Amino acid sequence: MSAASELLATLTDRVAEGEWSAPGRVNLIGEHTDYNEGFVLPFAIAERTAAAVALRDDDVLRISSSFSEGAVEVPLAALDDAISAGGLDWAAYPLGVAWALRRAAPDAAPRGLDVAITSNVPVGAGLSSSAAIEGAVASALNDVWGAGLDRVALARVGRIAENEAVGAPTGIMDQMASMLGRADAATFLDCRTLQTQEVDLGFAREGLEILVIDTLVSHAHSTGGYAERRAACEAGARAMGVLALRDLAESDLPRARELLDDVTYRRVRHIVTENQRVLDTVATLRDAGPRAIGELLVASHASMRDDFEISVPELDLAVDTALANGAIGARMTGGGFGGAAIALVQGDRLEAVASAVGEAFAAGRYRAPRTFPVLPSVGARRDA
Ligand code: ADP
Ligand code: MG
Repeated sequence: MSAASELLATLTDRVAEGEWSAPGRVNLIGEHTDYNEGFVLPFAIAERTAAAVALRDDDVLRISSSFSEGAVEVPLAALDDAISAGGLDWAAYPLGVAWALRRAAPDAAPRGLDVAITSNVPVGAGLSSSAAIEGAVASALNDVWGAGLDRVALARVGRIAENEAVGAPTGIMDQMASMLGRADAATFLDCRTLQTQEVDLGFAREGLEILVIDTLVSHAHSTGGYAERRAACEAGARAMGVLALRDLAESDLPRARELLDDVTYRRVRHIVTENQRVLDTVATLRDAGPRAIGELLVASHASMRDDFEISVPELDLAVDTALANGAIGARMTGGGFGGAAIALVQGDRLEAVASAVGEAFAAGRYRAPRTFPVLPSVGARRDA
């Protein structure tokens, strides 16, 4: 019996209607490009969140997670009020999904459910445990309530839940990666049109893995820093007369240098070159395979460190040490000011790179990082 069905058995005697799951994700390249309507290239990972569901006779949603004691109960008729009232803590994710799904699918037939949620996606490590719980619950409710939404619509439901019910102003990359993932492939996403393409990674064929190096650093100014970078991007786009920085190419950079102050110029240059690097990564994966993308990953890191200025010494050390110990490429990933770096490594070098990074952190008197490999894996699905 799966962990989620075991948890469900503590909630109800009824037979489970089914079980659904969705994965976390890692962004291979394309950082801070999402809100500039640009390109990203994330992949779903093997770590997943599962939701086991049983039907009830009443209209109550009763949700439990291995994450915390007890169950949260809300009658469907009171869902809107519960979302507006807030204070739901973790339950804002699954209840927010139910609320957003009902709005997005007027033909759905909502009914009371017992829902049990379990997960092995690390929380707060930059692997998007939030998109995993949203994707699992959205997939479950979509089937059980007969909502009939497709995967992209379910990703949108997850984003609306996170933006409006949880109150986190995130883009849609995480949900799209979690919904659309496939084994050994990444999801190329155009954040303006939401068009996607599956891109073969070829890691399995080449014996390559991605090592995540979680620095466990989280800076108090990360929220302020994020808002400041967004504002600089908006100012840069306005000054350049475009809707979003997505509309600029590298050939526009000389003009940008003339028009913009130095800081805004460098923020803009990061976004413009990063968008190009995502496109180049997709083309390189297709034409030359994964061993050829190392330089692009390294250039992405340098751009975030020097132009966007969102790296921290721990992330630079993780990247430099991984590269010095045989990684094919490495970069910080996520919003910056802490969080994780990723390194593309030959499978048999994984241990060596991880321990070299551990030693370098010890020598620098930094807190020991958490390192673990991730595998590009299948997206949301029904498991039972
Ligand atoms: P990340 O997505 O990077 O892991 P977030 O802050 O976006 O970090 O989302 C983490 C939050 O999502 C948790 O604090 C919790 O509220 C919620 N969450 C994630 N997974 C679960 C789960 N299995 N059960 C309950 N809540 C979860
Ligand atoms: Mg998240």
